[in-house]
Amino acid sequence: KTEKQTLGFQAEVKQLLQLMIHSLYSNKEIFLRELVSNASDAADKLRFEAINNDALYANDHALKINVSFDQAARTITIADNGIGMSRDEAISHLGTIAKSGTKEFFGQLSGDQQKDAALIGQFGVGFYSGFIVADKITVNTRRAGTAPEDAVCWESTGEGEYSIEPIVKPTRGTEIILHLREGEDELLSGWKLKSIIRKYSDHISLPILMQKEEWDEEKKETVLKDEFETVNQASALWARNKADIAPEQYDEFYKHVSHDFQGPLTLTHNKVEGRSEYTQLLYVPAHAPFDLWDRNKRGGLKLYVKRVFIMDDADQLMPVYLRFVKGVIDSNDLPLNVSREILQESRDVKVIREGSTKRVLGMLEELANADEQEKKDKYATFWKEFGQVFKEGIGEDATNKERIAKLLRFASTRDDSDQQNVSFADYVARMKEGQDKIYYATGESYGAAKNSPHLEIFRKKGVEVLLLTDRVDEWMLSFLQDFDGKELVSVAKGGLDLGALEDEAEKKQHQETETEYHDLVAKMKDALTDKAKEVRVTFRLTDSPACLVADENELSGNLLRMLKAAGQ
Ligand code: ADP
Ligand code: MG
Repeated sequence: KTEKQTLGFQAEVKQLLQLMIHSLYSNKEIFLRELVSNASDAADKLRFEAINNDALYANDHALKINVSFDQAARTITIADNGIGMSRDEAISHLGTIAKSGTKEFFGQLSGDQQKDAALIGQFGVGFYSGFIVADKITVNTRRAGTAPEDAVCWESTGEGEYSIEPIVKPTRGTEIILHLREGEDELLSGWKLKSIIRKYSDHISLPILMQKEEWDEEKKETVLKDEFETVNQASALWARNKADIAPEQYDEFYKHVSHDFQGPLTLTHNKVEGRSEYTQLLYVPAHAPFDLWDRNKRGGLKLYVKRVFIMDDADQLMPVYLRFVKGVIDSNDLPLNVSREILQESRDVKVIREGSTKRVLGMLEELANADEQEKKDKYATFWKEFGQVFKEGIGEDATNKERIAKLLRFASTRDDSDQQNVSFADYVARMKEGQDKIYYATGESYGAAKNSPHLEIFRKKGVEVLLLTDRVDEWMLSFLQDFDGKELVSVAKGGLDLGALEDEAEKKQHQETETEYHDLVAKMKDALTDKAKEVRVTFRLTDSPACLVADENELSGNLLRMLKAAGQ
Protein backbone atom coordinates (compact mmCIF):
# COMPACT_ATOMS: atom_id res chain seq x y z
CA LYS A 1 0.00 0.00 0.00
CA THR A 2 1.58 3.27 -1.00
CA GLU A 3 -1.19 5.80 -0.65
CA LYS A 4 -3.15 7.14 2.27
CA GLN A 5 -6.16 5.11 3.36
CA THR A 6 -9.07 6.03 5.58
CA LEU A 7 -10.54 3.32 7.78
CA GLY A 8 -13.39 3.22 10.30
CA PHE A 9 -13.00 2.42 13.98
CA GLN A 10 -14.67 -0.66 15.41
CA ALA A 11 -18.07 0.36 16.83
CA GLU A 12 -16.91 -0.19 20.43
CA VAL A 13 -13.97 2.15 19.91
CA LYS A 14 -16.32 4.94 18.83
CA GLN A 15 -18.43 4.37 21.89
CA LEU A 16 -15.40 4.25 24.15
CA LEU A 17 -13.99 7.48 22.70
CA GLN A 18 -17.24 9.34 23.20
CA LEU A 19 -17.55 8.22 26.77
CA MET A 20 -13.98 8.73 27.72
CA ILE A 21 -13.71 12.26 26.52
CA HIS A 22 -16.78 13.28 28.47
CA SER A 23 -16.57 11.22 31.61
CA LEU A 24 -12.86 11.34 32.33
CA TYR A 25 -12.26 15.01 31.76
CA SER A 26 -11.77 15.68 35.47
CA ASN A 27 -8.93 13.13 35.37
CA LYS A 28 -7.39 14.33 32.17
CA GLU A 29 -3.76 14.13 33.38
CA ILE A 30 -3.91 10.35 33.14
CA PHE A 31 -3.41 10.52 29.37
CA LEU A 32 0.32 10.93 29.98
CA ARG A 33 0.47 7.98 32.36
CA GLU A 34 -1.25 5.78 29.76
CA LEU A 35 1.01 6.82 26.89
CA VAL A 36 4.17 6.48 28.98
CA SER A 37 2.91 3.09 30.19
CA ASN A 38 2.51 1.96 26.56
CA ALA A 39 6.00 3.21 25.69
CA SER A 40 7.39 1.23 28.61
CA ASP A 41 5.51 -1.90 27.51
CA ALA A 42 6.92 -1.39 24.00
CA ALA A 43 10.46 -1.33 25.41
CA ASP A 44 9.76 -4.51 27.40
CA LYS A 45 8.50 -6.23 24.27
CA LEU A 46 11.59 -5.24 22.31
CA ARG A 47 13.92 -6.48 25.05
CA PHE A 48 12.10 -9.76 25.07
CA GLU A 49 12.15 -10.30 21.31
CA ALA A 50 15.81 -9.28 21.21
CA ILE A 51 16.85 -12.02 23.64
CA ASN A 52 17.04 -14.32 20.62
CA ASN A 53 17.70 -11.67 18.00
CA ASP A 54 20.10 -8.97 19.07
CA ALA A 55 20.00 -7.42 15.59
CA LEU A 56 16.65 -5.87 16.49
CA TYR A 57 18.52 -3.27 18.56
CA ALA A 58 20.43 -2.10 15.48
CA ASN A 59 23.15 -0.97 17.88
CA ASP A 60 20.81 1.26 19.84
CA HIS A 61 20.54 -0.54 23.18
CA ALA A 62 19.67 2.46 25.33
CA LEU A 63 15.91 2.17 25.64
CA LYS A 64 14.23 5.37 26.72
CA ILE A 65 11.14 7.53 26.52
CA ASN A 66 11.25 11.12 25.38
CA VAL A 67 8.58 13.66 26.27
CA SER A 68 8.59 17.07 24.61
CA PHE A 69 6.26 19.93 23.76
CA ASP A 70 6.02 22.65 21.15
CA GLN A 71 4.29 25.83 22.25
CA ALA A 72 3.93 27.27 18.77
CA ALA A 73 2.47 24.09 17.25
CA ARG A 74 0.52 23.36 20.49
CA THR A 75 1.65 19.73 20.54
CA ILE A 76 3.00 17.25 23.08
CA THR A 77 5.09 14.34 21.81
CA ILE A 78 5.80 11.05 23.56
CA ALA A 79 8.50 9.11 21.70
CA ASP A 80 10.01 5.72 22.43
CA ASN A 81 12.58 3.44 20.79
CA GLY A 82 10.70 0.28 21.69
CA ILE A 83 9.19 -2.43 19.52
CA GLY A 84 7.09 -0.10 17.31
CA MET A 85 4.18 -1.25 15.14
CA SER A 86 3.86 -2.53 11.60
CA ARG A 87 1.00 -1.26 9.43
CA ASP A 88 -1.18 -4.24 10.33
CA GLU A 89 -0.37 -3.90 14.00
CA ALA A 90 -1.25 -0.20 13.99
CA ILE A 91 -4.60 -1.03 12.38
CA SER A 92 -5.47 -3.78 14.82
CA HIS A 93 -3.99 -2.24 18.01
CA LEU A 94 -5.17 1.33 17.51
CA GLY A 95 -8.42 0.69 15.63
CA THR A 96 -10.01 -2.14 17.60
CA ILE A 97 -10.29 -3.32 21.18
CA ALA A 98 -8.96 -6.83 21.62
CA LYS A 99 -9.65 -7.09 25.34
CA SER A 100 -11.64 -10.04 26.67
CA GLY A 101 -14.89 -9.00 28.30
CA THR A 102 -15.39 -6.10 25.88
CA LYS A 103 -18.91 -7.13 24.96
CA GLU A 104 -19.92 -7.56 28.59
CA PHE A 105 -18.43 -4.20 29.40
CA PHE A 106 -20.38 -2.34 26.75
CA GLY A 107 -23.50 -4.17 27.81
CA GLN A 108 -23.16 -2.72 31.30
CA LEU A 109 -22.96 0.92 30.26
CA SER A 110 -26.03 2.81 31.39
CA GLY A 111 -25.73 6.24 29.83
CA ASP A 112 -25.41 7.73 33.32
CA GLN A 113 -22.19 9.68 33.08
CA GLN A 114 -21.01 9.16 36.64
CA LYS A 115 -21.67 5.43 36.73
CA ASP A 116 -20.11 4.98 33.32
CA ALA A 117 -17.02 6.93 34.31
CA ALA A 118 -16.40 4.47 37.15
CA LEU A 119 -16.95 1.53 34.81
CA ILE A 120 -14.68 2.87 32.14
CA GLY A 121 -11.92 3.17 34.70
CA GLN A 122 -12.32 -0.50 35.51
CA PHE A 123 -12.14 -1.38 31.85
CA GLY A 124 -8.81 0.38 31.42
CA VAL A 125 -8.49 3.51 29.33
CA GLY A 126 -5.23 3.17 27.45
CA PHE A 127 -4.18 4.84 24.24
CA TYR A 128 -7.52 6.51 23.53
CA SER A 129 -7.23 8.62 26.68
CA GLY A 130 -5.02 10.90 24.55
CA PHE A 131 -8.23 12.20 23.02
CA ILE A 132 -9.28 13.69 26.36
CA VAL A 133 -6.81 16.51 25.75
CA ALA A 134 -6.14 16.23 22.01
CA ASP A 135 -8.50 16.79 19.08
CA LYS A 136 -6.06 15.06 16.77
CA ILE A 137 -3.44 12.37 17.42
CA THR A 138 -0.65 11.49 15.03
CA VAL A 139 1.25 8.23 15.53
CA ASN A 140 4.47 7.69 13.60
CA THR A 141 5.73 4.20 14.12
CA ARG A 142 8.27 1.74 12.76
CA ARG A 143 8.59 -1.80 13.92
CA ALA A 144 12.02 -2.94 15.12
CA GLY A 145 13.74 -4.99 12.44
CA THR A 146 11.98 -3.30 9.51
CA ALA A 147 13.29 -0.67 7.08
CA PRO A 148 12.77 3.11 7.42
CA GLU A 149 10.42 3.00 4.39
CA ASP A 150 8.19 0.46 6.14
CA ALA A 151 7.09 2.95 8.78
CA VAL A 152 3.52 4.26 8.92
CA CYS A 153 1.69 7.36 10.03
CA TRP A 154 -1.64 6.76 11.77
CA GLU A 155 -3.80 9.78 12.35
CA SER A 156 -7.26 10.45 13.77
CA THR A 157 -9.46 13.15 15.22
CA GLY A 158 -11.07 10.54 17.45
CA GLU A 159 -14.46 10.69 15.80
CA GLY A 160 -15.39 7.83 13.50
CA GLU A 161 -12.29 7.07 11.51
CA TYR A 162 -8.54 7.21 11.16
CA SER A 163 -6.09 7.39 8.29
CA ILE A 164 -2.96 5.39 7.70
CA GLU A 165 -0.18 6.04 5.20
CA PRO A 166 3.41 4.98 4.61
CA ILE A 167 6.18 7.29 5.79
CA VAL A 168 9.94 7.11 6.11
CA LYS A 169 11.06 7.05 9.73
CA PRO A 170 14.81 6.94 10.37
CA THR A 171 14.53 5.37 13.85
CA ARG A 172 12.58 2.42 15.18
CA GLY A 173 9.80 2.85 17.74
CA THR A 174 6.76 5.01 18.16
CA GLU A 175 6.18 8.73 18.31
CA ILE A 176 2.81 9.93 19.53
CA ILE A 177 1.95 13.54 18.77
CA LEU A 178 -1.02 15.08 20.59
CA HIS A 179 -2.51 18.15 18.95
CA LEU A 180 -4.05 19.81 21.96
CA ARG A 181 -7.66 20.89 22.16
CA GLU A 182 -8.53 24.52 22.64
CA GLY A 183 -7.99 25.51 26.27
CA GLU A 184 -5.38 22.86 27.16
CA ASP A 185 -2.39 25.19 26.89
CA GLU A 186 -1.40 24.79 30.53
CA LEU A 187 0.01 21.39 29.48
CA LEU A 188 2.55 23.16 27.26
CA SER A 189 4.91 23.64 30.17
CA GLY A 190 7.99 21.67 31.16
CA TRP A 191 7.21 22.16 34.80
CA LYS A 192 3.64 20.90 34.43
CA LEU A 193 4.59 17.82 32.38
CA LYS A 194 7.42 16.92 34.74
CA SER A 195 5.15 17.10 37.73
CA ILE A 196 2.59 14.83 36.03
CA ILE A 197 5.32 12.33 35.13
CA ARG A 198 6.70 12.31 38.67
CA LYS A 199 3.23 11.80 40.07
CA TYR A 200 2.08 8.94 37.84
CA SER A 201 5.10 7.44 36.13
CA ASP A 202 7.96 7.63 38.57
CA HIS A 203 8.03 3.82 38.85
CA ILE A 204 8.69 3.30 35.12
CA SER A 205 12.02 1.50 34.89
CA LEU A 206 13.24 3.23 31.73
CA PRO A 207 14.47 6.80 31.82
CA ILE A 208 11.82 9.34 30.84
CA LEU A 209 13.77 12.22 29.34
CA MET A 210 12.79 15.86 28.96
CA GLN A 211 14.72 18.87 27.79
CA LYS A 212 16.27 20.96 30.55
CA GLU A 213 14.96 24.47 31.05
CA GLU A 214 16.71 27.61 32.13
CA TRP A 215 15.58 31.08 33.13
CA ASP A 216 16.73 33.64 30.55
CA GLU A 217 17.34 37.00 32.28
CA GLU A 218 17.22 39.01 29.06
CA LYS A 219 14.09 37.47 27.56
CA LYS A 220 12.52 37.21 31.02
CA GLU A 221 11.27 33.70 30.34
CA THR A 222 12.34 30.06 30.67
CA VAL A 223 14.07 28.71 27.59
CA LEU A 224 14.81 25.13 26.62
CA LYS A 225 18.44 24.03 26.69
CA ASP A 226 20.00 21.43 24.40
CA GLU A 227 20.51 19.09 27.33
CA PHE A 228 18.15 16.36 28.56
CA GLU A 229 17.35 15.30 32.08
CA THR A 230 15.80 12.12 33.46
CA VAL A 231 12.55 13.06 35.14
CA ASN A 232 11.72 9.78 36.91
CA GLN A 233 13.76 7.51 39.20
CA ALA A 234 14.16 5.08 36.28
CA SER A 235 14.68 1.93 38.30
CA ALA A 236 12.39 -1.07 38.56
CA LEU A 237 10.07 -0.36 41.47
CA TRP A 238 10.03 -3.92 42.78
CA ALA A 239 13.81 -3.96 42.99
CA ARG A 240 13.90 -0.92 45.26
CA ASN A 241 13.87 -1.12 49.04
CA LYS A 242 10.42 -1.22 50.57
CA ALA A 243 11.35 1.68 52.84
CA ASP A 244 12.03 3.88 49.81
CA ILE A 245 8.67 3.31 48.16
CA ALA A 246 5.71 5.56 48.95
CA PRO A 247 2.17 4.12 48.99
CA GLU A 248 1.26 6.27 45.98
CA GLN A 249 4.16 4.78 44.03
CA TYR A 250 2.93 1.28 44.79
CA ASP A 251 -0.53 2.36 43.64
CA GLU A 252 0.68 3.85 40.38
CA PHE A 253 2.78 0.80 39.65
CA TYR A 254 -0.27 -1.35 40.20
CA LYS A 255 -2.23 0.71 37.69
CA HIS A 256 0.59 0.24 35.20
CA VAL A 257 0.77 -3.56 35.49
CA SER A 258 -2.95 -4.18 35.85
CA HIS A 259 -4.31 -1.57 33.43
CA ASP A 260 -6.71 -0.77 36.26
CA PHE A 261 -7.82 2.74 36.96
CA GLN A 262 -8.46 2.35 40.68
CA GLY A 263 -5.84 1.53 43.25
CA PRO A 264 -5.45 -2.02 44.64
CA LEU A 265 -7.08 -3.43 47.76
CA THR A 266 -3.83 -4.66 49.27
CA LEU A 267 -0.31 -5.73 48.30
CA THR A 268 2.71 -7.72 49.39
CA HIS A 269 6.31 -7.05 48.39
CA ASN A 270 9.16 -9.39 49.28
CA LYS A 271 12.61 -10.44 48.28
CA VAL A 272 12.84 -14.19 48.73
CA GLU A 273 16.25 -15.72 49.25
CA GLY A 274 17.40 -19.30 49.67
CA ARG A 275 16.97 -22.27 47.39
CA SER A 276 15.28 -20.06 44.85
CA GLU A 277 15.83 -16.33 44.61
CA TYR A 278 13.11 -14.04 43.43
CA THR A 279 11.25 -10.85 44.16
CA GLN A 280 7.48 -10.78 44.32
CA LEU A 281 5.25 -7.72 44.24
CA LEU A 282 1.68 -8.97 44.33
CA TYR A 283 -1.59 -7.08 44.46
CA VAL A 284 -5.23 -7.96 45.09
CA PRO A 285 -7.44 -5.63 43.01
CA ALA A 286 -10.34 -3.79 44.61
CA HIS A 287 -12.84 -5.11 42.09
CA ALA A 288 -13.38 -8.14 39.92
CA PRO A 289 -12.58 -7.88 36.20
CA PHE A 290 -15.26 -8.47 33.60
CA ASP A 291 -13.92 -11.86 32.68
CA LEU A 292 -13.27 -13.28 36.13
CA TRP A 293 -15.27 -16.37 35.24
CA ASP A 294 -13.22 -17.29 32.26
CA ARG A 295 -10.99 -20.05 33.62
CA ASN A 296 -9.04 -20.09 30.37
CA LYS A 297 -8.09 -16.49 30.74
CA ARG A 298 -4.46 -16.06 31.60
CA GLY A 299 -3.54 -14.53 34.92
CA GLY A 300 -2.27 -11.07 35.70
CA LEU A 301 1.34 -11.72 36.60
CA LYS A 302 4.28 -10.38 34.67
CA LEU A 303 7.41 -12.49 34.74
CA TYR A 304 10.83 -10.85 34.70
CA VAL A 305 14.19 -12.58 34.85
CA LYS A 306 16.90 -10.38 36.39
CA ARG A 307 14.91 -7.24 35.53
CA VAL A 308 14.33 -8.31 31.91
CA PHE A 309 10.68 -8.61 30.99
CA ILE A 310 9.87 -12.14 29.83
CA MET A 311 6.11 -12.38 29.55
CA ASP A 312 2.72 -11.09 30.59
CA ASP A 313 0.14 -13.39 32.09
CA ALA A 314 2.56 -16.00 33.36
CA ASP A 315 -0.21 -18.18 34.74
CA GLN A 316 2.12 -20.97 35.86
CA LEU A 317 3.21 -18.68 38.68
CA MET A 318 -0.11 -18.77 40.48
CA PRO A 319 -2.79 -21.45 41.01
CA VAL A 320 -6.01 -20.95 39.06
CA TYR A 321 -8.10 -19.98 42.10
CA LEU A 322 -5.81 -16.98 42.67
CA ARG A 323 -6.04 -15.84 39.06
CA PHE A 324 -7.22 -12.39 40.18
CA VAL A 325 -3.81 -11.54 41.68
CA LYS A 326 -1.80 -8.97 39.71
CA GLY A 327 1.83 -8.00 39.88
CA VAL A 328 5.38 -8.94 39.10
CA ILE A 329 7.66 -11.87 39.82
CA ASP A 330 11.34 -11.29 39.08
CA SER A 331 13.42 -14.47 39.21
CA ASN A 332 17.16 -14.67 39.56
CA ASP A 333 17.31 -18.36 38.65
CA LEU A 334 15.29 -18.90 35.48
CA PRO A 335 17.05 -18.72 32.11
CA LEU A 336 16.35 -15.64 29.96
CA ASN A 337 15.09 -17.75 27.11
CA VAL A 338 12.45 -19.43 29.25
CA SER A 339 9.28 -20.38 27.36
CA ARG A 340 5.79 -21.20 28.60
CA GLU A 341 6.60 -24.89 28.06
CA ILE A 342 9.73 -24.68 30.19
CA LEU A 343 7.77 -22.82 32.87
CA GLN A 344 5.38 -25.72 33.10
CA GLU A 345 8.14 -28.16 33.99
CA SER A 346 10.47 -25.96 35.96
CA ARG A 347 11.22 -26.75 39.60
CA ASP A 348 12.04 -23.11 40.21
CA VAL A 349 8.59 -22.15 38.99
CA LYS A 350 7.03 -24.66 41.33
CA VAL A 351 8.92 -23.14 44.24
CA ILE A 352 7.86 -19.64 43.18
CA ARG A 353 4.23 -20.70 42.82
CA GLU A 354 4.16 -22.28 46.24
CA GLY A 355 5.87 -19.30 47.83
CA SER A 356 3.60 -16.81 46.11
CA THR A 357 0.48 -18.74 47.06
CA LYS A 358 1.52 -18.65 50.72
CA ARG A 359 2.16 -14.92 50.45
CA VAL A 360 -1.26 -14.24 48.98
CA LEU A 361 -2.94 -16.33 51.67
CA GLY A 362 -0.91 -14.47 54.30
CA MET A 363 -1.97 -11.13 52.87
CA LEU A 364 -5.64 -12.18 52.97
CA GLU A 365 -5.32 -13.57 56.51
CA GLU A 366 -3.91 -10.26 57.63
CA LEU A 367 -7.05 -8.50 56.42
CA ALA A 368 -9.43 -11.20 57.64
CA ASN A 369 -8.00 -11.40 61.15
CA ALA A 370 -7.38 -7.70 61.68
CA ASP A 371 -8.95 -5.68 64.46
CA GLU A 372 -9.03 -2.45 62.49
CA GLN A 373 -12.34 -1.77 60.80
CA GLU A 374 -10.61 -0.56 57.65
CA LYS A 375 -8.93 -3.92 57.11
CA LYS A 376 -12.09 -5.83 57.97
CA ASP A 377 -13.95 -3.81 55.37
CA LYS A 378 -11.25 -4.61 52.87
CA TYR A 379 -11.68 -8.30 53.54
CA ALA A 380 -15.43 -7.96 53.05
CA THR A 381 -14.75 -6.28 49.71
CA PHE A 382 -12.33 -9.03 48.75
CA TRP A 383 -14.89 -11.66 49.60
CA LYS A 384 -17.67 -9.93 47.69
CA GLU A 385 -15.53 -9.51 44.58
CA PHE A 386 -13.49 -12.71 44.56
CA GLY A 387 -14.96 -15.11 47.14
CA GLN A 388 -16.58 -17.37 44.58
CA VAL A 389 -13.33 -17.86 42.71
CA PHE A 390 -11.33 -18.24 45.90
CA LYS A 391 -13.57 -21.15 46.98
CA GLU A 392 -12.20 -23.16 44.06
CA GLY A 393 -9.03 -23.37 46.14
CA ILE A 394 -10.64 -25.92 48.47
CA GLY A 395 -10.64 -28.38 45.58
CA GLU A 396 -7.54 -27.17 43.81
CA ASP A 397 -5.01 -26.64 46.58
CA ALA A 398 -4.94 -29.60 48.96
CA THR A 399 -1.77 -28.33 50.66
CA ASN A 400 -3.38 -25.12 51.84
CA LYS A 401 -6.91 -26.43 52.29
CA GLU A 402 -7.07 -25.64 56.00
CA ARG A 403 -5.84 -22.08 55.57
CA ILE A 404 -8.32 -21.55 52.76
CA ALA A 405 -11.19 -23.02 54.80
CA LYS A 406 -10.50 -20.50 57.56
CA LEU A 407 -10.83 -17.68 55.03
CA LEU A 408 -14.23 -18.82 53.73
CA ARG A 409 -17.28 -16.70 54.52
CA PHE A 410 -20.94 -17.72 54.39
CA ALA A 411 -24.41 -16.39 54.83
CA SER A 412 -26.18 -18.03 57.76
CA THR A 413 -29.56 -18.28 59.46
CA ARG A 414 -28.17 -16.15 62.28
CA ASP A 415 -28.94 -12.86 60.62
CA ASP A 416 -31.52 -12.09 58.04
CA SER A 417 -29.16 -11.14 55.25
CA ASP A 418 -27.56 -12.71 52.22
CA GLN A 419 -24.23 -11.16 53.15
CA GLN A 420 -21.49 -13.75 53.34
CA ASN A 421 -19.71 -12.79 56.52
CA VAL A 422 -19.74 -15.83 58.81
CA SER A 423 -16.57 -17.91 59.05
CA PHE A 424 -16.41 -21.51 60.21
CA ALA A 425 -14.65 -20.25 63.34
CA ASP A 426 -17.52 -17.83 64.08
CA TYR A 427 -19.95 -20.67 63.63
CA VAL A 428 -18.06 -23.09 65.85
CA ALA A 429 -17.74 -20.47 68.60
CA ARG A 430 -21.54 -20.12 68.62
CA MET A 431 -22.39 -23.84 68.54
CA LYS A 432 -25.06 -24.96 71.01
CA GLU A 433 -24.19 -27.11 73.94
CA GLY A 434 -24.18 -30.71 72.74
CA GLN A 435 -23.79 -29.71 69.09
CA ASP A 436 -20.82 -31.39 67.45
CA LYS A 437 -21.50 -30.82 63.78
CA ILE A 438 -21.54 -27.88 61.41
CA TYR A 439 -24.90 -27.74 59.63
CA TYR A 440 -25.40 -26.20 56.23
CA ALA A 441 -28.17 -25.87 53.67
CA THR A 442 -27.55 -25.48 49.96
CA GLY A 443 -29.87 -23.94 47.43
CA GLU A 444 -30.09 -22.20 44.10
CA SER A 445 -30.53 -18.85 45.77
CA TYR A 446 -30.35 -17.30 49.19
CA GLY A 447 -34.15 -17.08 49.28
CA ALA A 448 -34.56 -20.76 48.40
CA ALA A 449 -32.04 -21.91 50.98
CA LYS A 450 -33.39 -19.66 53.70
CA ASN A 451 -36.96 -20.88 53.26
CA SER A 452 -36.12 -24.55 53.00
CA PRO A 453 -38.39 -26.72 55.17
CA HIS A 454 -35.29 -28.59 56.27
CA LEU A 455 -34.42 -25.64 58.46
CA GLU A 456 -37.56 -25.83 60.58
CA ILE A 457 -36.18 -28.13 63.25
CA PHE A 458 -32.98 -26.06 63.47
CA ARG A 459 -34.95 -22.86 63.96
CA LYS A 460 -36.97 -24.54 66.67
CA LYS A 461 -33.83 -25.64 68.48
CA GLY A 462 -32.06 -22.34 67.86
CA VAL A 463 -29.22 -24.01 65.92
CA GLU A 464 -27.44 -21.85 63.34
CA VAL A 465 -27.22 -23.19 59.78
CA LEU A 466 -24.85 -21.93 57.09
CA LEU A 467 -26.57 -21.07 53.80
CA LEU A 468 -24.50 -22.00 50.75
CA THR A 469 -25.94 -20.72 47.54
CA ASP A 470 -23.06 -20.03 45.14
CA ARG A 471 -22.70 -22.23 42.10
CA VAL A 472 -19.32 -23.44 43.23
CA ASP A 473 -20.48 -24.48 46.71
CA GLU A 474 -21.62 -28.04 46.02
CA TRP A 475 -18.43 -28.76 44.17
CA MET A 476 -16.38 -27.23 46.97
CA LEU A 477 -18.25 -29.26 49.60
CA SER A 478 -17.26 -32.47 47.88
CA PHE A 479 -13.68 -31.64 48.95
CA LEU A 480 -14.54 -30.42 52.42
CA GLN A 481 -15.83 -32.93 54.97
CA ASP A 482 -14.98 -31.21 58.20
CA PHE A 483 -13.56 -28.15 59.85
CA ASP A 484 -11.61 -28.16 63.08
CA GLY A 485 -12.62 -31.79 63.66
CA LYS A 486 -16.30 -31.03 63.24
CA GLU A 487 -18.16 -32.81 60.51
CA LEU A 488 -19.97 -30.72 57.90
CA VAL A 489 -23.53 -32.00 57.56
CA SER A 490 -26.20 -31.03 55.10
CA VAL A 491 -29.60 -30.41 56.65
CA ALA A 492 -31.15 -32.05 53.60
CA LYS A 493 -29.53 -35.47 53.96
CA GLY A 494 -31.70 -38.37 55.13
CA GLY A 495 -31.52 -39.81 58.64
CA LEU A 496 -30.45 -36.51 60.09
CA ASP A 497 -28.87 -37.25 63.43
CA LEU A 498 -29.06 -34.32 65.77
CA GLY A 499 -26.96 -36.17 68.34
CA ALA A 500 -26.94 -34.62 71.77
CA LEU A 501 -29.18 -31.82 70.52
CA GLU A 502 -32.06 -34.24 71.07
CA ASP A 503 -32.87 -35.08 74.65
CA GLU A 504 -33.94 -38.51 75.97
CA ALA A 505 -37.62 -37.64 76.19
CA GLU A 506 -37.66 -36.55 72.54
CA LYS A 507 -35.91 -39.71 71.42
CA LYS A 508 -38.38 -41.90 73.27
CA GLN A 509 -41.30 -39.99 71.85
CA HIS A 510 -39.90 -40.32 68.33
CA GLN A 511 -39.64 -44.08 68.68
CA GLU A 512 -43.21 -44.35 69.82
CA THR A 513 -44.46 -42.24 66.95
CA GLU A 514 -42.51 -44.34 64.45
CA THR A 515 -44.10 -47.53 65.77
CA GLU A 516 -47.53 -45.94 65.64
CA TYR A 517 -47.20 -44.98 61.97
CA HIS A 518 -45.34 -48.10 60.86
CA ASP A 519 -48.25 -49.50 58.78
CA LEU A 520 -49.10 -46.20 57.11
CA VAL A 521 -45.50 -45.67 56.08
CA ALA A 522 -45.32 -49.16 54.60
CA LYS A 523 -48.43 -48.44 52.52
CA MET A 524 -47.07 -45.17 51.25
CA LYS A 525 -43.82 -46.84 50.33
CA ASP A 526 -45.73 -49.39 48.27
CA ALA A 527 -47.66 -46.67 46.51
CA LEU A 528 -44.47 -44.74 45.68
CA THR A 529 -42.25 -47.69 44.73
CA ASP A 530 -40.79 -46.20 41.56
CA LYS A 531 -40.85 -42.59 42.81
CA ALA A 532 -39.21 -42.75 46.21
CA LYS A 533 -36.50 -45.01 47.50
CA GLU A 534 -37.60 -44.70 51.09
CA VAL A 535 -40.43 -43.20 53.10
CA ARG A 536 -39.96 -42.34 56.74
CA VAL A 537 -41.50 -40.46 59.61
CA THR A 538 -39.63 -37.24 60.19
CA PHE A 539 -39.19 -34.97 63.16
CA ARG A 540 -37.29 -32.30 61.39
CA LEU A 541 -40.39 -30.42 60.23
CA THR A 542 -42.41 -28.12 62.41
CA ASP A 543 -44.73 -26.44 59.87
CA SER A 544 -44.47 -28.28 56.56
CA PRO A 545 -46.29 -31.63 56.20
CA ALA A 546 -43.58 -33.42 54.19
CA CYS A 547 -40.23 -32.87 52.48
CA LEU A 548 -37.88 -34.64 50.09
CA VAL A 549 -34.45 -35.60 51.30
CA ALA A 550 -31.41 -37.06 49.61
CA ASP A 551 -29.97 -40.37 50.62
CA GLU A 552 -26.96 -40.15 52.89
CA ASN A 553 -24.38 -41.03 50.29
CA GLU A 554 -26.05 -39.54 47.27
CA LEU A 555 -25.83 -36.26 45.42
CA SER A 556 -27.98 -33.57 46.93
CA GLY A 557 -31.08 -32.27 45.16
CA ASN A 558 -29.41 -28.99 44.42
CA LEU A 559 -26.35 -30.58 42.84
CA LEU A 560 -28.57 -32.87 40.77
CA ARG A 561 -30.43 -29.81 39.48
CA MET A 562 -27.15 -28.13 38.64
CA LEU A 563 -25.78 -31.15 36.79
CA LYS A 564 -29.02 -31.43 34.84
CA ALA A 565 -28.85 -27.76 33.92
CA ALA A 566 -25.29 -28.31 32.71
CA GLY A 567 -26.52 -31.13 30.50
CA GLN A 568 -24.95 -34.02 32.40
P1 ADP B 1 -3.12 -1.83 26.51
O1 ADP B 1 -1.89 -1.07 26.85
O2 ADP B 1 -3.97 -2.12 27.70
O3 ADP B 1 -2.88 -3.03 25.66
P2 ADP B 1 -3.73 0.53 25.01
O4 ADP B 1 -5.02 1.10 24.53
O5 ADP B 1 -2.96 1.37 25.97
O6 ADP B 1 -4.09 -0.87 25.64
O7 ADP B 1 -2.81 0.19 23.78
C1 ADP B 1 -3.30 -0.62 22.75
C2 ADP B 1 -2.20 -1.34 22.03
O8 ADP B 1 -1.53 -0.47 21.12
C3 ADP B 1 -1.10 -1.89 22.90
O9 ADP B 1 -1.44 -3.15 23.43
C4 ADP B 1 0.06 -2.00 21.92
O10 ADP B 1 -0.02 -3.19 21.18
C5 ADP B 1 -0.18 -0.83 20.99
N1 ADP B 1 0.64 0.33 21.37
C6 ADP B 1 0.23 1.43 22.01
N2 ADP B 1 1.24 2.29 22.22
C7 ADP B 1 2.34 1.69 21.71
C8 ADP B 1 3.73 2.07 21.60
N3 ADP B 1 4.19 3.20 22.11
N4 ADP B 1 4.57 1.20 20.96
C9 ADP B 1 4.10 0.03 20.46
N5 ADP B 1 2.83 -0.38 20.53
C10 ADP B 1 1.95 0.45 21.15
MG1 MG C 1 -1.80 0.78 27.68
